[in-house]
Amino acid sequence: MTDFTMKKDADGVAIITWDVPGKSMNVLSLDGAAQLDALIDDALADEAVKGVVITSGKKDFAAGMDLNVIAGMKTGGAQAVFDGIMTLHRALRKIELAGMDPKTKKGGKPIAAALPGTALGIGLELPLATHRIFAADNPKARIGLPEIMVGIFPGGGGTTRLVRKLGVLGASSFLLEGKLNEPAKAKSAGLIDEVVADPVASAREWVLNATDADLVKPWDAKGYKMPGGEPYNPAGFMTFVGASAMVHGKTMGVYPAAKALLSAVYEGAMVPFDTALKIEARWFTNVLMNPSSSAMIRSLFINKEALEKGANRPEAPDQTVKKVGILGAGMMGAGIAYVSAMAGIEVVLIDAKQEAAEKGKAHSADLLDKAISRKKSTEAKKAEVLGRITATTDYAALAGCDLVVEAVFEDPGVKAEVTKKAEAVIGPDAIFATNTSTLPISDLAHASSRPDEFIGIHFFSPVDKMALVEIIKGKQTGPRAVAKALDFVRQIRKTPIVVHDARFFYANRCIIPYINEGLRLLAEGTSPTLIENAAKQMGMPLGPLQLVDETSIDLGVKIAKATRAAMGDAYPDGAVDEVIFRMADQGRLGRKANAGFYDYDASGKRQGFWEGLATEWPEAAEQPEFTEIQNRLMFVQALEAVRAFEDGVLEDIREGDVGAILGWGFAPWTGGPFSWLDMLGAPRAVEIADALAKKFGPRFAAPALLRDMAAKGESFYGRYGKGQKAA
Ligand code: NAD
Repeated sequence: MTDFTMKKDADGVAIITWDVPGKSMNVLSLDGAAQLDALIDDALADEAVKGVVITSGKKDFAAGMDLNVIAGMKTGGAQAVFDGIMTLHRALRKIELAGMDPKTKKGGKPIAAALPGTALGIGLELPLATHRIFAADNPKARIGLPEIMVGIFPGGGGTTRLVRKLGVLGASSFLLEGKLNEPAKAKSAGLIDEVVADPVASAREWVLNATDADLVKPWDAKGYKMPGGEPYNPAGFMTFVGASAMVHGKTMGVYPAAKALLSAVYEGAMVPFDTALKIEARWFTNVLMNPSSSAMIRSLFINKEALEKGANRPEAPDQTVKKVGILGAGMMGAGIAYVSAMAGIEVVLIDAKQEAAEKGKAHSADLLDKAISRKKSTEAKKAEVLGRITATTDYAALAGCDLVVEAVFEDPGVKAEVTKKAEAVIGPDAIFATNTSTLPISDLAHASSRPDEFIGIHFFSPVDKMALVEIIKGKQTGPRAVAKALDFVRQIRKTPIVVHDARFFYANRCIIPYINEGLRLLAEGTSPTLIENAAKQMGMPLGPLQLVDETSIDLGVKIAKATRAAMGDAYPDGAVDEVIFRMADQGRLGRKANAGFYDYDASGKRQGFWEGLATEWPEAAEQPEFTEIQNRLMFVQALEAVRAFEDGVLEDIREGDVGAILGWGFAPWTGGPFSWLDMLGAPRAVEIADALAKKFGPRFAAPALLRDMAAKGESFYGRYGKGQKAA
């Protein structure tokens, strides 16, 4: 099976077509790279060949390097990774120099890339090594280098070539943010050369007419100067000072890829091109050997995709949703209506009053208006999406819905009533789902006449932005309901995890202890600055105090009261409640009240800490160790995740890791709590947990499972990496 084939035509143009058998999208494997290299050798050696066009047999060009291959490369050790990357560099450099005389730069064969659609990662690095890039005028195509999003950076020459092509500033958003562009924008940014109707025809034409000078890259020509200046001239120097501060500010120093990328750029900019490639390869090897990159690739790419494709879907016929009924058009219902209608699903949006239902529908109009103003949507698309949403109070409109999602008030009585009303109308095969965040699914199912078709589908707020959906199985939930929920989540392009019914399910179960630990630290007299920075320097997107402000302090009060009522004497969080009750009493309800642990200006912009913190919870003379604060904030979450797995609430550590990053932003550089504990190693994790438990109490007690793994020298991914259950 070959990934690349070559056809030479009568005019002397060799067309190399990339078409990986059995895949809808091309990805580069090491084998594939060797095949391409052999074809280039053939074309360069064949006197009948005047030039080469590299294109794709699929609707897109390529999605990048096969990330499974990248993740596997490190098993051979650093030298093997470095050698592998250098082989790739040599192959791409051969394309770039195209057989030209090294001195005169004459006599090379023109090689062009013709991109029918999306070209990402190595799918753009390969074209960047050719002499001209032609892209189809295809607004659906995305062009860019998204490597940084999964914890690596462009290591196939993309970093070195783009910086030399666009300068450090010009290249920075593509390299450091992984920004993707449609072809027209990619052209104006200088990423590609031409946007045309038929890229193969145009590339062919260009190849036949190219001159020797057309083949010489600026950096191979005499007198080349990097746009914006090299690091050792004043302008370039300032760029690097700024870039370095910006990267550190954004990443808090925990993402090895961003730092390594910047080092490769800085060091590479001071030496000739071929040495720069070698430096790029060294830093790439460095990043790949860092456990963070493989954990990020595993969770944010491989396992996320596996879950989206239904890794844990029970056997059941296709359950694609055609018409969804949504009960309650409040904040959540309105958001669920929007994502459903965007996915092409017909929506019936019900509320108790017609104006409430209309208001829920207006949320979709608002989001679409914003998208139109940002040129991300059109009036026609808006009309089409809104046309799919019927806002009504009439339950009879639910006839024909194959899925109903309930998002009314968090009140078992109200939920029971709407469940009965809906079930009186919907067909026998329809599935009923609740979006409750705190009520047990199995209890709510009592209101249903068919509890096997009753399930939890738990969205996060704001629904249009949050990628995770928790699917919760009640005691009697049947496999078809799970399949339906998974098929629905796939339609609306979100990532599902399937969990069992237990207090707070998975994500909230782990994030609440994080918030509570922050509040405990404050109550103990820890400086709020220290608390927030400790969290952020571990890679948490928000410190715990900022997070409470965002989710609102009255919600915290509500949850605390309900949990205390449910748990009685076993309730462990009295010290925490004292903090939020005191804040709530003073009307400091968080961002929505423009007053919380932080101050906010009139426009809602967050300012410094509220002055009152210093008098309410005076800072202790002696402050705890920074790492101890970090361990407390991270271990409360990670140990809770392990307990959720040990209890069987979570069946699959892959879901635990992916869900943690997407659901509550658990330090993405770690790959998730299970990956993080694996990085620490179970013995070290137990040692830290024991020390914390001794000092701060049983919430840090190491779960038996972790202790067992420590004793046996095992890791989570070693033992359960393929989705095996704990129990
Ligand atoms: P909300 O108060 O904004 O909306 C509830 C809506 O239900 C209101 O519009 C109300 O008029 C309507 N409603 C009440 N009784 C009704 C009835 N009998 N028939 C039809 N409509 C009725 O609340 P929300 O924040 O959207 O939460 C809804 C559900 O989602 C709750 O169960 C909540 O726990 C859950 N949830 C909320 C969040 C969140 O962040 N807010 C996150 C996940 C889940």
